[in-house]
Amino acid sequence: MKIGALEAGGTKMVCAIGDEDGSILKREVFPTQTPDITMPLLIDFFMDEGIEALGIGCFGPIDPNKCSATYGYITSTPKLPWKNYNIVKTFSEALNIPIGFDTDVNAAALGEAAWGALKDCEVGIYITIGTGIGVGVCINGNPLHGLIHPEAGHILIRKMANDNYKGKCPYHSDCFEGLASGPAIEDRWGKKAYDLKDVPEVWDLEADYIAQALVNYILCYSPNRIVLGGGVMHQDQLFALIREKVTEYLGGYVRSDAIIKHIDEYIVPTGLGEDSGIKGSIRLGYMAYHNLI
Ligand code: ADP
Ligand code: ZN
Repeated sequence: MKIGALEAGGTKMVCAIGDEDGSILKREVFPTQTPDITMPLLIDFFMDEGIEALGIGCFGPIDPNKCSATYGYITSTPKLPWKNYNIVKTFSEALNIPIGFDTDVNAAALGEAAWGALKDCEVGIYITIGTGIGVGVCINGNPLHGLIHPEAGHILIRKMANDNYKGKCPYHSDCFEGLASGPAIEDRWGKKAYDLKDVPEVWDLEADYIAQALVNYILCYSPNRIVLGGGVMHQDQLFALIREKVTEYLGGYVRSDAIIKHIDEYIVPTGLGEDSGIKGSIRLGYMAYHNLI
């Protein structure tokens, strides 16, 4: 079975043709411009490929609730040409096949749950720390929605006493994303994040904020494992720092061997490399075809 997949991002659109095992048969990347320019290119890519379903993992916030009047819309994004744009309707009218639609990070969590590091997890969490911070949650192989969908990149965390940076989030200033996204690091320290590799206080502070957020996710979602991805996590020295601080902040309260004895296998990098989102979008298409979402 051929399945189309779109990982829709604010700067680029990754398109792929895959199959039900998550193999990618063909892939192409398009820059994200306005819907008028970009959508016809994407439709052209998928047209005449014989795909039976399409999965879209999309930057957001979005409306993934099928009962809602604005289902399929990208809603309150700061990327203005895409604000209140009904991306599902445009694909649906052009391709006339079942479409699965979710956030980019819920899709990534789904991909990791199907074929990567979250396999066999009842509750699995995928976090990207890049241009923004996004959190996807997968429960028994299904993406979590509820009211809208998790927006746990915007939780409020405790600012360190020695951090005078005001924060970068346009909505909340110093929420988690405002303090710890790649652009926040670069704004605070005045250098590209990859040029700060050898400055330990940068990564101590970064690991502290990420650890605070993870502690909150552990306490609220009770995940069986947490995957960390995104550009900032290319600084792989962060993993050891984060694990240490998570243990410290939990203070021995959560009595699970996964945390007490095996934290190296509890807070982990992606199992699918850079492909969590696009493979998760294949999975979304598969699930839409089989009415699983
Ligand atoms: P996006 O979030 O836009 O999908 P990425 O996950 O690649 O893309 O995140 C890009 C951000 O990650 C950049 O703005 C930069 O701040 C940061 N970043 C990219 N590469 C590195 C690196 N090697 N080390 C630290 N930070 C990085
Ligand atoms: Zn915010």
